[in-house]
Amino acid sequence: MTQLHLASVAELGRLLASGEISSVELTRHFLARVEAHRELNAFLDVRPETSLAQAAAADRRRASGESGPLLGIPLAHKDIFVTRDWASTAASRMLEGYMSPFDATVVERLGQAGMVCLGKLNCDEFAMGSSNENSAYGPVRNPWDVKAVPGGSSGGSAAAVAARLCPVATATDTGGSIREPAAFSGVTGIKPTYGRPSRWGMIAFASSLDTAGLMTASAEDAAAVLSAMLGFDPKDSTSVDRPPEDCIRELDRPVAGLRIGVPREFFGKGLTPEAESAVRAALDTYRGLGAEIVDISLPTASLGIPVYYVVAPAEASSNLSRFDGVRYGHRAKNHGDLADMIKRSRAEGLGAEPKRRILIGAYVLSHGYYDAYYLQAQKVRRLIGEEFQRAFQQCDVIAGPVTTGEAFDIGAKTADPVAMYLEDLFTIPGSLAGLPGMSVPCGFGPRGRPLGLQLMANHFQEARLLGVAHQFQKVTDWHRRTPAGVAATNP
Ligand code: GLN
Repeated sequence: MTQLHLASVAELGRLLASGEISSVELTRHFLARVEAHRELNAFLDVRPETSLAQAAAADRRRASGESGPLLGIPLAHKDIFVTRDWASTAASRMLEGYMSPFDATVVERLGQAGMVCLGKLNCDEFAMGSSNENSAYGPVRNPWDVKAVPGGSSGGSAAAVAARLCPVATATDTGGSIREPAAFSGVTGIKPTYGRPSRWGMIAFASSLDTAGLMTASAEDAAAVLSAMLGFDPKDSTSVDRPPEDCIRELDRPVAGLRIGVPREFFGKGLTPEAESAVRAALDTYRGLGAEIVDISLPTASLGIPVYYVVAPAEASSNLSRFDGVRYGHRAKNHGDLADMIKRSRAEGLGAEPKRRILIGAYVLSHGYYDAYYLQAQKVRRLIGEEFQRAFQQCDVIAGPVTTGEAFDIGAKTADPVAMYLEDLFTIPGSLAGLPGMSVPCGFGPRGRPLGLQLMANHFQEARLLGVAHQFQKVTDWHRRTPAGVAATNP
């Protein structure tokens, strides 16, 4: 097969099972692609010898009689997950070259399933951003148009899968960081229910929101990997104790009779005509498959952004206090006393966006402002959650746009943090409610850049959500389109 990187996870699994290819060969193929597409800046740390050793181990497991749908399949991890064998930086100078003494639970689980790590993926510093321009190691480029951002914060994950540098990438979503870059880069992204994937070993940003997830070419691929990723972890205090789940089981369930709620507030001011028509066309496809489209209202969802930009920075200000040059991170070379050392280390190690969030967070948590901002935001967060629960009495899933339009140019919004924050208008409400959500490719904008359809379901409904996405992908081919000139090259 000449274009191995265009194969699905299931196809790769069959090639490995039949012995037509080895994991070492497959891993070499993808490593060569990673090398050939350095211009995207999607990877931060690549160690071919280590990857090939993992692949050889997978081949030995198979030779000794083991099997499994993921045994020997390559993937790459967002550099928010700590890894023993690759540096873990959260795309910050603060953690440059940091080697973790352990693997994140997600990394460990997928490794146990036999997946082979190709390296670490670029992202926004500490996962703060919507365009991957906040990385201390430079922006990631969108494979569809290198002038465009890939979205963020999981921009490296999105770009790497879009360019088929890896069949699977892990990612994290706090307010939209899986769904928004998946939409901008034309790949399938899933953020599971908060608490289902372990947060152990995920460098913390906003602990009550941070959720590990995946980017893949299709919902079917995501279902296979998610089954191995989800599950209770006693090391994570917010991990939900539920039995492991087979996320594949609802893939073939027809959508006839499915009630799809469409929040009218998501189609107001700000949405570009192209995003609106792509989403409406996707809804027509579902209607054609027998689904029922239900008009719903989420009036408080519009407060999602202000609520998020109180809660997330508050948690970030606390989580990032460990980067002080003593417990973790960069230590300034020239300094006076302890306080001066911490000040200089943080000034040198942290970029502008984490600093901005730490300031906002410390402010909203301070005596005198706590009640006015933080407590108030928590109350509105609760209301948003309740509003979703009412909506789910009228519908089974919720559908709408992921972003207001196609990806913007690198540099277009960097001078205006608020414009950047508004990127997550449609993804943040679901994050605040802890709901699972997906982005599924559904069209292209006027500049030929991808657009995504957002699908959300109630807590713990990942399998259903993946099935709803798969039924759409069975009758459309948006998810199969790849950026010409990047995905077509071999390797
Ligand atoms: N863009 C949002 C932010 O900057 C969300 C980031 C995320 O989900 N990690 O905080």
